[in-house]
Amino acid sequence: MRFKANKTLYILPLVTLLLATALVFYHQRFSSTVHEALLLLPYALAAVAVWLSVQFSKRQLLISVLISITSYAIIQLKLQQPLSLPSVLIAYSLLSLWVPICLLINLLVKENGLMATSSKIVYGLIALVTLIIIILYNSSSESLLIWIQQYFAPKPTTFFILSWNALFITLGCLIISLLLFIVKQTAVSLSLVLILVTNTLPLMLLNIDFISTSYLSAAMIITLFACIKTSHELAYRDQLTGLLGRRALFEQLASISGRYTIAMVDIDHFKKFNDTYGHDVGDDVLALVAAKISEVGGKGLAYRYGGEEFTLLFPGKDASEAAPFLEEVCSSVANTPFYVRNKTARKNSSAEHRSKGNNTSKTVKITVSIGGATKPSGRIEPEKVLKLADKALYKAKDSGRNQVKLSG
Ligand code: GH3
Ligand code: MG
Ligand code: MG
Repeated sequence: MRFKANKTLYILPLVTLLLATALVFYHQRFSSTVHEALLLLPYALAAVAVWLSVQFSKRQLLISVLISITSYAIIQLKLQQPLSLPSVLIAYSLLSLWVPICLLINLLVKENGLMATSSKIVYGLIALVTLIIIILYNSSSESLLIWIQQYFAPKPTTFFILSWNALFITLGCLIISLLLFIVKQTAVSLSLVLILVTNTLPLMLLNIDFISTSYLSAAMIITLFACIKTSHELAYRDQLTGLLGRRALFEQLASISGRYTIAMVDIDHFKKFNDTYGHDVGDDVLALVAAKISEVGGKGLAYRYGGEEFTLLFPGKDASEAAPFLEEVCSSVANTPFYVRNKTARKNSSAEHRSKGNNTSKTVKITVSIGGATKPSGRIEPEKVLKLADKALYKAKDSGRNQVKLSG
């Protein structure tokens, strides 16, 4: 399923990054009390971010927050002294490895909730990496120091002190997180990219005053934003099809002052389909039909109304203007062969690929009936327009299905 990236997705994270950058430059203007309070800000924000990511069962966000806040605590407690001290150099070098490695492990394993087996593997791997790092740190061996100086020594230029090797790991992690974001443009995938950036900047530019407080506070705010967006998605978006749900439809209808056309789209003989192929295959069909419906032209907006019924809304258009786009949806669903596949094949593929077959599949034809109605002039409740569209839909069903009927 393709989602159009929403501009609002970027605004808050970008403003947060700008504010963090401004804080780095202007923090000296604050009084010492404000200064002291700001040093505690990442901890306070992290507590809220941990709570919210647990509430929404988002393992990737939870782990990112825990890594970020641990990194912040280490920077504050251990790295406020010159890197020329061997213990500080070891702490810095190990931290600049630990952060990207843990973020990478977290990224590579798909989000499946806090308690999924895959999440437990992530916890285990991160615990193992952490244990190795702690053992290395406490070993205070000469050979470790030599190894770090050889491969992970910070490059002490004015602005940039991350070692090349740590930078390569970080860059690898950045590329993977960017690819994951391109594939699925959500607030969570964007926050994972930005959390990596906000964790790397304080390590790269460690000598700049207040940098960790600023950027790691930003990391927390970006995580909070991702949690809030997630709760919004849960309330408004249908999980199975990825379309907006009925609540979003009624909010949109309430905000339109002029005319509009509503079309109800209903899958033909869907009960029979479920009875023949099973509910899981029925769910696949719903996702396929939803994908086709969401491609509607004419600036139409697609919603899952409920069950196997969808709604198309055309703000500013009357039924005759919307009709060609409804005809297009109807024939596009009818002309898309749907491959019913065995359980294993279905498990291994996303909704996007469900219209592509394999040798264990069989094709079936799916059709939809559509009924459209335009809001009559005057103050008319949206529910009345929906009823008119529903009546037109029944006409389409009675006339043999796989067709569009308009009210009136
Ligand atoms: P018609 O052509 O007249 O619309 O016939 P129909 O069988 O599609 O109509 P009916 O309303 O009798 O059946 C709708 C079916 O949709 C019944 C229900 O099991 C199925 N359904 C509703 N929601 C879901 C869902 O989320 N997943 C699956 N797999 N089936 C669903
Ligand atoms: Mg129905
Ligand atoms: Mg039906």
